[in-house]
Amino acid sequence: MKMKMLCSALAGASLLLSACVGGGSSSTTAAGPSRNVLFFLGDGMGITTMTAARIYSVGEDGELTMDKLPETAFVHTFSNDAQVTDSAPSMAAYMTGVKMNNEVISMTPETRATDASGNAYHSSYDSTCPSGNGQAVPTLLEQMKAAGYGTGVVSTARITHATPAATYAHVCHRDAENTIAAALVPGGTGYNARLGDGVDVVLGGGSLYFTPKADGGRRNDGRNLIDELKAQKYSFAANKSEFDKLPVDGSRIAGLFTKDHMAYDLDRDASKEPSLAEMTGKAIDVLSARKKGFFLMVEGGRIDHALHATNARRALQDTVAFDDAVKLALDKMNRIDPGLRNTLIVVTADHDHTLHLNGYAARTGKTEAGKPGVLGLVKNYVDGKASTDVDGNPYTILGFGNGPRRLATRGPIDTAALESPDYLQEAVVPLASETHGGGDVFLGAQGMGADRFSGVIDNTDVFTLIKKSVGL
Ligand SMILES: [Zn+2]
Repeated sequence: MKMKMLCSALAGASLLLSACVGGGSSSTTAAGPSRNVLFFLGDGMGITTMTAARIYSVGEDGELTMDKLPETAFVHTFSNDAQVTDSAPSMAAYMTGVKMNNEVISMTPETRATDASGNAYHSSYDSTCPSGNGQAVPTLLEQMKAAGYGTGVVSTARITHATPAATYAHVCHRDAENTIAAALVPGGTGYNARLGDGVDVVLGGGSLYFTPKADGGRRNDGRNLIDELKAQKYSFAANKSEFDKLPVDGSRIAGLFTKDHMAYDLDRDASKEPSLAEMTGKAIDVLSARKKGFFLMVEGGRIDHALHATNARRALQDTVAFDDAVKLALDKMNRIDPGLRNTLIVVTADHDHTLHLNGYAARTGKTEAGKPGVLGLVKNYVDGKASTDVDGNPYTILGFGNGPRRLATRGPIDTAALESPDYLQEAVVPLASETHGGGDVFLGAQGMGADRFSGVIDNTDVFTLIKKSVGL
C-alpha cells in the first residue's frame, strides 16, 4: 500500500522510478535512496538577532553553524492580509506553499481567523471556526507521510503553538490549541486522518492542552490525550530521565516536558528538560532507524518570546541553542548519509522582530561574566568611551523599535544591571509586548537540492523547492 502511494507520488522523479517499476521490494524507499528533509525554524529569528547572537556567542569574527551553510537566500514573509506576519501563516506558507491570513493554520487563503467584528474564532482554546470558512491545504509533513516517510515535530514551545501546529493541523485560528492537540492523537475525535498512523516523533512543551481541566489542564472535553497517545502505542516521556529511556528502534515516541512552553535555555534545568539539540538528536535516531527517509521539523520556539519581552540576553541564548541543534543535526546526518547526498537541511525563520543594533560601538567580542559584549553600552571605537545621546546619556548597543520599557526620560545606565538575565532593552514606542518586524529573513540550506535555494524568494517558494528536492 505504501509502495503504491509512493510510486504514484513519485511518478515524475526519474531517480526513484526504477525502484517503483522494479516493484519487488516491500519498501520502495529501502530499495531506492532514503531521502530526508530537516526543516529548522528559529521563531522570530531576524537577521539582526542572528548577528547579535553571533557576537554574543563567538564574537564579531566568529561563525555560527548557520553562517557556514553553503546556500543562502533572503525570504519575503508578508502574509495574505498583513505586511507583518505572525508565525501561523508564515510557517503555513513554508509547509503548504499557500499564503494565508494572519493567525490561520494551514487553510486556504480566504479563510478568516475572526468574524466581521474582529472576534477570534475560538473559545476557551476550542475552535469555533464556522463551516464553509476555508478548507484545509495539505502540508509537507502530510504529503511525506502519505508517501511512506517517517515524520517528526520538535519544538521548545508548546507543541500546539502556531509553528509546530502548521505542520500537522488545520484550523482557522491558532489559539484553538485544544483542537490542535486532538489533531495529533490517532483514533480520537478531531484526529487529522491525513497523518495516517500518526506523527512518529512529537517532542516539546504544552501538556496543558493534552490534559483535562480536572487534572490542571485546559481541555474542556475531559479527555486525557497523553493516556490516549500511550494507548496508541506511543512511548511517552514527561521529563529528562524518561526522555533518555525513550526507544530509538523506530517506534513512535512523544514527549511533553512542561505544562506550558519549555524553559528558556538560559533557565533550563538540564536534569528536567532536554535541550533542543538533545531532542533533535533523539528524533533523528528514531526516524533514521525506520530506514524509509523522513521529514523532521525543529523549532527554536522561544527566541520569539524573549524578543517580545525585549529580553535580548534570553533571545540570544535561545538562538545559540537553536544553532547547536543545527550543528548536531549536520554532524549526525553526515554520519548517516555522508555528504548529505540524500538529505536536505533548511534553516530559516518565520519573521523578523524590531531588534536593532545601535551606534558605532568598538568591537566587544563575545559575552562573558563581567563583559556584557553586545549586551553592553555603545563604547566608541576611537577612544573606548561610552557614546552618548543628545542629552549626554549613554545607550545600549541593542534596543527595540517598540516594547514595554519606554523611558519617559533617559538617564544614566547602571552597568551592573546589564549583567542581569532579566534586563530589558529600551524601546522607542511604548507597547506592552514588542511586535514582530517586517524585514526579510535569512534562509540557509545544505545537502540534497540545496543549490535550488538562492536569491530573493517568497516564503511560499520554499515549499515548492523542498518538494522538488525530495522528488514529491
Ligand atoms: Zn511572536
